[in-house]
Amino acid sequence: MKKYDQIRRKLIDRRDEIKGRLNKVDQDILHTNGAPDPDSGEQALERENDDVLEALGGLARSELEKINIALDNIERGEYGVCTLCKESIAVERLKAIPYADRCINCADKDIDDID
Ligand SMILES: [Zn+2]
Repeated sequence: MKKYDQIRRKLIDRRDEIKGRLNKVDQDILHTNGAPDPDSGEQALERENDDVLEALGGLARSELEKINIALDNIERGEYGVCTLCKESIAVERLKAIPYADRCINCADKDIDDID
């Protein structure tokens, strides 16, 4: 019954970890923006740093979104089903990528399309 309990816990741990990191990134951005440095060279550096932080934040947010979808799917009993072919996703794959929404075959297809 609690087939995905372990994965669920893993997803929740990961979600909390990302949330913590996002909070830190937001604080870093607030900190650098809130204290402008009179030295223009320093400011350019800080702005560059902000871009990196925001890019990291964007990545973390998209992962967070996937995790939330996966957790929703677990709640609804729809977790572990490929969104393309509706086949079950291998548990080994879910353990490696808990928020995977495609089976290995469909993920491969996607890569072929890009090439
Ligand atoms: Zn599939």
